[in-house]
Amino acid sequence: MRLCAVSVDLDEIPNYFAIHGLPAPTGPEASLVYDVAVDRLSELASDLGIPLTLFAIGADLERKEAAGKLHAARAAGFEIANHSLDHRYDFVRLGRGEIRRQVVEGADAIERATGERPVGFRAPGYTISDVVFEVLAELGVAYDSSVFPCPAYWAAKTAAIGLISVRGRTSRSIVDTPAVLTAPTRPYRVGSPYWKRGDGLLEVPVQVTRGARLPFFGTSVTLGGPRLARGLARMCIGEPLVNLELHGIDVLDVHDGLEALRPHQHDVRVARDRKLEALRAVVEELRGAGYGFVTLREGAEQAARGLA
Ligand SMILES: [Zn+2]
Repeated sequence: MRLCAVSVDLDEIPNYFAIHGLPAPTGPEASLVYDVAVDRLSELASDLGIPLTLFAIGADLERKEAAGKLHAARAAGFEIANHSLDHRYDFVRLGRGEIRRQVVEGADAIERATGERPVGFRAPGYTISDVVFEVLAELGVAYDSSVFPCPAYWAAKTAAIGLISVRGRTSRSIVDTPAVLTAPTRPYRVGSPYWKRGDGLLEVPVQVTRGARLPFFGTSVTLGGPRLARGLARMCIGEPLVNLELHGIDVLDVHDGLEALRPHQHDVRVARDRKLEALRAVVEELRGAGYGFVTLREGAEQAARGLA
């Protein structure tokens, strides 16, 4: 099996201000992901002839424009999956009842917008827990895709949170236990603890490269530019299911209205055309190696058959 699923977390712009401990934006930049990025992503996907899986945050769909965009994306053949109700960065620290509500009401909001209940889930901020997996299993969720067994990312995130606090601000981000770095890098059924194999829910980890487990996701692909992005893609070739995770912000730049993030986030300084070029390069590289492009749901179903 050589399949690749490209998924996009539709984290709206205020989430990035929260990560950096900045006051929430109030202008049109607050909804750039739904107002601008989704169209850009749809155009890219249609040019490349690939489906996307969009992970939506339920609360964003209270805006009817956002709900409309999601409905249109589903009608165009994209999968819509659940990225929780409120994208709480402390999601894993909430009580079981609130975790359950975050999952259920996120799915409810998506179902209202698209007419279809999502089957996949991704927790906010790459942090998950055994309790979350138990709740997902109780609710009949088909697959999860939150585990990111990437030492480089883990170290960078830990350092960034420290740096933000040194500067006197408080990041809303939290890091997962370092044990997650030992999790399988290919789809697996979770055990207890969840970073070990077992017979629980199907987990499709966010992609890391073979060997060094470098991050192969939107930030590294778009920051690195087309050449480096191709190099990272080549380092994933041979994996049965490449799970490339992007964010809506990966196709935006400072000129879209993100000037306030310029000092805090390198990736918004990269011109959007260059980012789109890097994303195209990755798809071409994988396609050239015989990969077929599917939704994450289809990829998860195929992977589950392989595990059975
Ligand atoms: Zn997110």
